[in-house]
Amino acid sequence: MRKRFSQLGTSLVLLVITAIALVWLSPAVQDSLLTVVAGRAIEGGAGARLHETEGMRILLCGTSSPLPHPTRRKACVAVFAGGKFYVVDTGPGSWNNFARWRVAGERIGGIFYTHYHSDHIGALGEFNMQTWVAGRPEPLKIYGPPGVRRLVAGFAEAYALDIDYRVAHHGRDFLSPDRSAMEAVQFALSSGSTAASRDTPVFEEGELTVTAFPVDHDPIKPAVGYRFDYRGRSVVVSGDTVKDGRLIAQARGVDVLVHEAQASHILGILRKVADRAGRARIVTIMDDILDYHTTPIEAAEAANEADAKLLVLYHLNPPPPTTLIERVFMRGVDETRPEGVILADDGLVLELPPDSPEITISWLD
Ligand SMILES: [Zn+2]
Ligand SMILES: [Zn+2]
Repeated sequence: MRKRFSQLGTSLVLLVITAIALVWLSPAVQDSLLTVVAGRAIEGGAGARLHETEGMRILLCGTSSPLPHPTRRKACVAVFAGGKFYVVDTGPGSWNNFARWRVAGERIGGIFYTHYHSDHIGALGEFNMQTWVAGRPEPLKIYGPPGVRRLVAGFAEAYALDIDYRVAHHGRDFLSPDRSAMEAVQFALSSGSTAASRDTPVFEEGELTVTAFPVDHDPIKPAVGYRFDYRGRSVVVSGDTVKDGRLIAQARGVDVLVHEAQASHILGILRKVADRAGRARIVTIMDDILDYHTTPIEAAEAANEADAKLLVLYHLNPPPPTTLIERVFMRGVDETRPEGVILADDGLVLELPPDSPEITISWLD
């Protein structure tokens, strides 16, 4: 009996070695495998179907902050509603996530900027170019507080040669130069923005309303957060801010509060290490950034005070590289808010069916 098992084992090993050798050495086998993989890719994955919802879907397309991380891209949140998607901030690398998940770029409805720090704007050129090439039917609208016209003009100029090349190469019928344009839509915040007031919407289409409100990212001005409302569901995206009463007022009763988080207790350790190593520039930067962000515990307090159903922490500073550091990052949060908190990663999807209290959580690969 034992001999029969060992013969079976030997045959299996030989079979596996033969299969590996075939894949490694045979162009015909490699091409067949590629055809299968490419077929699956072209059908589109979960990302291509994100717009297929009656309610609202929220996708975390970038959860890091300026500090580096091997997989997290920088600030980016997308909202899918009414057959289109809307993006809040396009941090460096965030388009790469959309491409990897095969999101239908031509369905982009607009981009909203919270402020113009580099970790929030870097991928704008790629968003515009890639969604145009994907077949976007009109110029891309870029919404933001004062500064947005300059931002759009700068990126348009930087990509002008690229657009000329592509039009000349593929033809004007296939890639219309008119549709390659970006249109800056600047809005002013009402001077009466206080913790008690509800700001006026900056965007309305069908049943979707987007409202902007000021936040405190001093000395960076202007800086805003956004609230999206659609079919009885809602999400607030904080942008960069300290814990701010105006944000809490706007987030009152919201389904999802996507809030930035900076683990100042971790940065304190990094500062000490940098100081000991004589890295004065790092010490100065650490000192400067401590007072214009929100700690995870403060974000939990804000969610509690707003009575938000779910708190999602993003713009993680520093972006935790391991599960252990994630635990350190979240230290003390469960005492403030034992339930209803997620430390986001790129690919987090929240499904909010219309007129319902339900929130379904899933992840794109
Ligand atoms: Zn910032
Ligand atoms: Zn930032």
